Amino acid sequence: MSQTRKTRIIHGGRGKVCDIGPVNPPVMRASTIIFDSITTWRDARKRRETERLLSYGARGTETAFALEELITELEGGYRAQLFPTGLAAIAVTVMSYAHAGGHVLFADSIYEPVRKIAKSFLTPNNISYDFFKTDGSDFEAKLRQETQLIFAESPGSLLYEMLDLPKLCCIAHARNIPVAVDNTWGSAWLYNPLELGADVSIIAATKYLSGHSDVMMGIMVASESAWQKIGALPEAMGQVSSPDDVSLVLRGMRTLATRLAAHGQSAMTVARWLQERKEVKKVYFPGLEEHPRHDLFKRDCKGTNGLLTIELKSHYTLEDAETFIDALELFGIGASWGGFESLVLPANVQGARSATDWSQHGQFIRLHIGLEDVNDLLTDLEQGLNKLSD
Ligand SMILES: *Cc1c(COP(=O)(O)O)cnc(C)c1O
Repeated sequence: MSQTRKTRIIHGGRGKVCDIGPVNPPVMRASTIIFDSITTWRDARKRRETERLLSYGARGTETAFALEELITELEGGYRAQLFPTGLAAIAVTVMSYAHAGGHVLFADSIYEPVRKIAKSFLTPNNISYDFFKTDGSDFEAKLRQETQLIFAESPGSLLYEMLDLPKLCCIAHARNIPVAVDNTWGSAWLYNPLELGADVSIIAATKYLSGHSDVMMGIMVASESAWQKIGALPEAMGQVSSPDDVSLVLRGMRTLATRLAAHGQSAMTVARWLQERKEVKKVYFPGLEEHPRHDLFKRDCKGTNGLLTIELKSHYTLEDAETFIDALELFGIGASWGGFESLVLPANVQGARSATDWSQHGQFIRLHIGLEDVNDLLTDLEQGLNKLSD
């Protein structure tokens, strides 16, 4: 029987099936794994090079294998690897591909801390890098003979710019350059980079997969050819996630589809409402028809999430933006997103972009629309915006 993704996210990754047992894979905590003979020990050490099996805690336990299996299935990949944070997954993936004398091309819309990986790791290691515009106009011109990796993010951080990923992958692959994509926005559910041609998808499970703002984790999912090339480095660099955290992410994922549908629906309502407000110059939300390259969103995304960014009219200052933020009662002020609750932060777009100039824009504020009653959120946003003078 062929099952839809909505069924697979419930029934996939449930661990070893036994006739009688708990619904969820047990939390298997281990460093040492004990073998009954030297032969089985030797056999496991040989097989672990290509198979997922118990051999040592740092190589994962059945709990991790269940999550890896579920995420691999949803992303249409070959294998997945867990990391202690999303940023660690990105850093190790970049290190896997980039070597001295090489070049990495990043999308201008990447998660801002990834720029620190470039500054603090690539530069000292004699690896050059560059950023391409999200409209793709300078993409080919910025590819070099020595380019070893394209690192993209779509929809992008803060402004949700849509890349034409299939097109970029075609151009890159014609030159044998691999493409890795930060898929935290889509979280294996709303967007699937491997299906669009990318070689590697990376997700901060810290966000929607865990879904409850109490776990840090990163996941890298690779196609078979990419796995052959980069599958060994994470383990060589001692990357592992706690089985307790893994269990929380597995638990979170059972409601991922339902939560994202609710986040997306409320965010759409809020986005349309904000578009009508006189204080707001522009709403950045890929689900809106007015969003740049909404055509790519419709083609490549399976829905929206709870993230949206507003740009205030240009006469409002940073202090005005902060007055609005402080006035909100239901929106917590804090980093990250993807939990069940609403959040707000000022967004420094100019500081997070370099291929494009954002200095002539109004104040940007990023909202994460949580699972509260959307009418309560609108009431809160209304009283906050009313605090701004004309
Ligand atoms: C949060 C985030 C990350 C990093 O995840 P951590 O688990 O906090 O390290 C990476 N990419 C994007 C797009 C993110 O939003």
